[in-house]
Amino acid sequence: MEQRQLDPEGYENSQRAKSLRNKYGIGLEEYHRLLAYQGGACAVCLSKDHKGRGWHVDHDHQCCGRGVKTCGRCVRGLLCHNCNVNLVAGYEAIPKECRDSARLNAYLCMPPFRRMLSD
Ligand SMILES: [Zn+2]
Ligand SMILES: [Zn+2]
Repeated sequence: MEQRQLDPEGYENSQRAKSLRNKYGIGLEEYHRLLAYQGGACAVCLSKDHKGRGWHVDHDHQCCGRGVKTCGRCVRGLLCHNCNVNLVAGYEAIPKECRDSARLNAYLCMPPFRRMLSD
């Protein structure tokens, strides 16, 4: 029997841990710590519904380029599907001087992941 069938939750967690480590350079523990730090909600719209298949780990694309791999230090926060795909990506496409959302500026200047680490 595969681990998937014997222990679906453990399997799910180990897959998730692997993909977090590979893609974002953070572990499952940091992921859960960050989610708890954000009150279990999206860092931008504060929705407790991730509106997708799980929270998006948002990171600074300027830091490690366009690839999926990040160095782990530039993770910003956990976002719902809508904020990650529609809001933050679009917002970052606007020139800095035209960005007039206080909430998004606060998120981008001092993201929860960095706040959590400096606490
Ligand atoms: Zn959101
Ligand atoms: Zn980076």
